[in-house]
Amino acid sequence: MYDYLIVGAGLYGATMARRLTDAGKKVLVIDKRDTIAGNVYTKKIEGINVHIYGAHIFHTNNKRVWDYVNKFAVFNRFTNSPVANYKGELYSLPFNMYTFNKMWGVVTPDEAKERIEAQKKEAGITEPKNLEEQAISLVGKDIYEKLIKGYTEKQWGRKCCELPSFIIKRLPVRLTFDNNYFNALYQGIPIGGYTKMVENMLEGVEVKLGVDFLKDREGLEAKADKVIYTGPIDEFYDYKLGTLEYRSVRFENEILDIPNFQGNAAVNYTDSETPFTRIIEHKWFEFGKDEEGNDLPKTVISREYSSEWKKGDEPYYPVNDEKNSKLSEEYKALAGKEDKVIFGGRLGEYKYYDMDAVILSALTKADSIVGED
Ligand code: UDP
Repeated sequence: MYDYLIVGAGLYGATMARRLTDAGKKVLVIDKRDTIAGNVYTKKIEGINVHIYGAHIFHTNNKRVWDYVNKFAVFNRFTNSPVANYKGELYSLPFNMYTFNKMWGVVTPDEAKERIEAQKKEAGITEPKNLEEQAISLVGKDIYEKLIKGYTEKQWGRKCCELPSFIIKRLPVRLTFDNNYFNALYQGIPIGGYTKMVENMLEGVEVKLGVDFLKDREGLEAKADKVIYTGPIDEFYDYKLGTLEYRSVRFENEILDIPNFQGNAAVNYTDSETPFTRIIEHKWFEFGKDEEGNDLPKTVISREYSSEWKKGDEPYYPVNDEKNSKLSEEYKALAGKEDKVIFGGRLGEYKYYDMDAVILSALTKADSIVGED
């Protein structure tokens, strides 16, 4: 008999498992995959920690979260600075003075501001109602058309005018020469990979892999007083109110016998013709070196193809439109009535969470169960 059965060994599950175990609870973690760490799982290929389920760069403004993850890993000084490739023209991301200089030849922040203001005025947008209007009013029409429209429509499979504006507000706009993609006080990649970090979080916790909760629900539920469920909330309820939509991603991985393919961890292909959204070259998350500091002779790249999720695919991104938000609220109302099951994480809460927000949400939930640590 366990106090808690935790379904899913990703960041939410691992954080809960650690906190509850440290508070003396008896915990079992299960995952239907044969691996821990959920979608932050990394696998060593050719000496490189490959982000198998998509690139993850840890960044946070929250000191508690930063201190917490630093108990389980040492973080390197990686700073995310993706490059946008629009039909062979390269631009700095996020949108900053380097981007504006390349786009318009402007040199000073005032000149850049003037350009953006003029384009905004021309578009006549006062209150942005969707991602397209929000983007144009943040950075103007040229940048919207070259660096946002194609990428976003490939990523979400929906028109920019049908997407909510908050998605684009994730990206900073700066009138400074600063290519750091995130406005976060703390940033880095765990040395040795995320799998190692999660392994450390789960030290001394019983973990059973390759166990699908929904296939033996009654048997598994009977083993514990409470269940913490981090899988898709609609799947838990057998889709009885309808199916929530997700975006899925297919990765085409290649090992290349060259040391340097693109000179950067992330290059975004922002035109609409290129079928993939971006190429990740994993070695640059670790500066192209192995753990002893030697240069790695080969490289591993992943092309990311975004697609609409269908049953059987891996769900990655909750779709943030009105229809799905409404349906997820209905599922959350059902979840709120459960006294044995707690839902958490990107899939359990159907929320476009970053890693730090997932951890904070788990820490806060754990506080409410066992008190602050
Ligand atoms: N985005 C864009 N062009 C880019 C990169 C991002 O238009 O080159 C937009 C796109 O709509 C994307 C959003 O910004 O969905 C958020 O990007 P972020 O990098 O935060 O997405 P994630 O890393 O979660 O995939």
